[in-house]
Amino acid sequence: MAEVISVIGAGTMGSGITITAASAGIEVCQVDVSSEQLDRARAYHSKTIRRNVEKERMTQDEADATLSRIQYSNSHERSGDSSFAIEAATENIEIKKKIFGAMASTYSPDCILATNTSSISITEIGNSIGNAADRVIGMHFFNPVPVMKLVEVIKAPATSDETLARTIELSEKMGKTPIAANDHPGFVSNRVLMPMINEAFHAWNDGVAGPEEIDGIMKLGCAFPMGPLRLADLIGLDVCRDIMLVLHEGLGHPDKYAPCAKLLELVDAGHLGNKTGRGVYDYSS
Ligand code: NAD
Repeated sequence: MAEVISVIGAGTMGSGITITAASAGIEVCQVDVSSEQLDRARAYHSKTIRRNVEKERMTQDEADATLSRIQYSNSHERSGDSSFAIEAATENIEIKKKIFGAMASTYSPDCILATNTSSISITEIGNSIGNAADRVIGMHFFNPVPVMKLVEVIKAPATSDETLARTIELSEKMGKTPIAANDHPGFVSNRVLMPMINEAFHAWNDGVAGPEEIDGIMKLGCAFPMGPLRLADLIGLDVCRDIMLVLHEGLGHPDKYAPCAKLLELVDAGHLGNKTGRGVYDYSS
C-alpha cells in the first residue's frame, strides 16, 4: 500500500514539504485552516511541476501522477489513515499545541507526529499531548524545501527509537539527508547560525564595517553562498530576533544571546527583510 502522509500548514514550508513528498511517490494530504492558503499552495505545486516538465526533469505523465497524489483539505478528518503527520503551521506554541491535540486524536495510534518548528521545544509540544509523546519528533526542513538537502531531526527525551528510525526513513525517501540532534534551544542549526548573524549586527553597530563589507568578507573569506546580513533579510529579521530570544531565555547567559540593538531597531521600524521590501538592505527597486 502506498504511504500516506499529512502536512499541516500550507505556507512557505508546508507547501514545499508537500511537493517534495509527492514528487518522491508519497500520497499527501495538505491541510490548512485557510482556503486561500490551500489555493496558493495548489498554484505553487502546479507551477513547480510545470517548470520541471519544461526543464525536462520529468515527463508530463510523471507530472500528472505527482499532482494526483496531493489532496487538499481544511480538516484533519480526510487524512485519518496517515502513517505520518508533519506540522508546518505558524510558529506559535499555542497554535502548535492545539494542532498536536487534534493530530493525536484524529490519526491512528501509530502515526508519527512531527513538527517543522525552527525553535519551539519538542518536549513541550510532546508534553501537551501526554501519552503520545513517544511519537513526537522534530523534522526541521530548510527553505526552499525542494532544494535544500538537510532535515535536522530533533529527538526529545520521550521520543522513541522507532519514531526516530521512521523519521530518518521518510526523510531519505523524500531525497533528503537527515542528521539527528537533541532537543535543546535552537537545536544545532539556529544555535550556531543565529549568534553569528547577531554578531554581524554587532560588528555593523560598532562601526567595524558596513553591511556590504561585512557580507563581502564573510562570503569570500568563509566561502558562504551569501553574507550573514543578507541571509538575515532572507530569513526575516523578526524571525531572527525571535530565535535569539529563544536562545537568550533557554540558555541562560545574560549577554551572549541577547539580540543586538541594531537588529531590534530594524524590527521595531517594520523593516523585516525581503518580505517587507526593506531590512538591512533596500529591495524596493
Ligand atoms: P507560513 O506563515 O508561511 O505558513 C503557516 C501556515 O500555517 C499558514 O498557511 C496558516 O494558514 C497555517 N495555519 C495556521 N494555523 C493553522 C492551524 N490551526 N491548522 C492548520 N494550518 C494552520 O509559515 P512558514 O514559514 O511556512 O513556517 C511554518 C513552520 O516552519 C514554522 O514553525 C517555522 O518556524 C518553520 N520553519 C520556517 C522556515 C522558513 O524559512 N520560513 C524554515 C524552517 C522552519
